[in-house]
Amino acid sequence: MTDSKPDFETLAIHAGAQPDPATGARATPIYATTSFVFDDVDHAASLFNLQTTGFMYSRIMNPTVAVLEERLAALEGGRGATGCASGHSAQVLALFPLLSTGDEFVASNKLYGGSITQFGQTFKKFGWTVKFVDPDDMDAVRRAVDEKTKAVFTECLANPGGVVVDIEAMAKIAHAANCPLIVDNTLATPYLLRPMEWGADIVVHSTTKFLSGTGTTIGGAVIDSGKFDWAKAGKFPDLAGPCAAYHGLTFFETFGDLAYTMHCHAVGLRDLGPTMSPFGAWITLLGVETLALRMDRHCANAARVAEFLTGHKAVAWVNYAGLPANKYNRLAKKYLPKGAGAVFTFGLKGGYQAGIRMVEGVNMLSHLANIGDSKSLIIHPASTTHRQLTEAQQIAAGAGPDVIRLSIGLESAKDIIADLDQALNRAAGN
Ligand SMILES: *Cc1c(COP(=O)(O)O)cnc(C)c1O
Repeated sequence: MTDSKPDFETLAIHAGAQPDPATGARATPIYATTSFVFDDVDHAASLFNLQTTGFMYSRIMNPTVAVLEERLAALEGGRGATGCASGHSAQVLALFPLLSTGDEFVASNKLYGGSITQFGQTFKKFGWTVKFVDPDDMDAVRRAVDEKTKAVFTECLANPGGVVVDIEAMAKIAHAANCPLIVDNTLATPYLLRPMEWGADIVVHSTTKFLSGTGTTIGGAVIDSGKFDWAKAGKFPDLAGPCAAYHGLTFFETFGDLAYTMHCHAVGLRDLGPTMSPFGAWITLLGVETLALRMDRHCANAARVAEFLTGHKAVAWVNYAGLPANKYNRLAKKYLPKGAGAVFTFGLKGGYQAGIRMVEGVNMLSHLANIGDSKSLIIHPASTTHRQLTEAQQIAAGAGPDVIRLSIGLESAKDIIADLDQALNRAAGN
């Protein structure tokens, strides 16, 4: 029997791309050009009026970036995507069509630390207010979301604590209040989890991590399902009302299920400007081609390392959702049946000083602030990323003095474990 819909592995290599029509080049070329020649004045006018889609200026759209956009939309099961300069700019772009000054959104309090700062501190300057809630407590989420809420934002597999969030329940709560659920899918990638299959409306990525996969390129993406009804509740005038910057055009009426993605390009990228470079898109495309193979290996290695750590005498606890005894294991089985990712934390019996000895004692692992690389990475958050916080704040953020975060790479599990073992023994003073 033939199934006409290509599998994930096939889409990861082919979606959005074809041999270059001008030269026959099989690999996607890097279109290193700022701008594109108009056929004539009428063509230019119709591009500027959004009556024709096409390439005009690379701040708004570029052919290399467009291949990555189409590929990520296919992998997530979305309608359209917007590539951008970083994961953080993807978060700004994702919320920009939805919120105006004075508006509110609800976000999980178990997010990447940079997102907590961006939402809680910097967005205040836009007049956007975030209400943080504990995603382990769906009643608290229900109480926080109301008719004023313009969006609900969460990670499903959350950085760094191995938290798994019940996004199906969260989507229902968001939809009951007529607002979209946005999921940051950076840690799971669409290979392990496709949030739109569980009701998410928008997915954001830091492509910096597993999608590009080799620690070379900062990038981000916003993907829209195309299914949200922006007109229904009258809450989204930027999408369902007339746009002054385009002679009163209404995005939702004109572009239907592509309205949100068109707005991200034609208003978000045009006016805020956090564009992905064609070179960054090209490197990310190389990474995406091998995503399925790499994620299987990342997960298998992480599971073996987690098991090893669980049995080590210098280790107090291991927070990996793939372990049967973990409190998120039930949700991991539901949302992440192929594996619980490769980023997790564990605790050292020796506390802060042992943490410092541990990160200084590794040989092959790299002591740095990134995740999702082919290389295995280690960090002691209390002495680095979270050092400005009080100890109480560190503990609340899952970054107490004894915590070590790992991002398990693609080396052999034997070599990763051997390096951790010698560093653990050194940290414990053996
Ligand atoms: C790294 C990261 C971000 C921010 O992405 P940048 O590409 O560094 O801007 C956002 N969310 C998660 C989960 C991340 O890991």
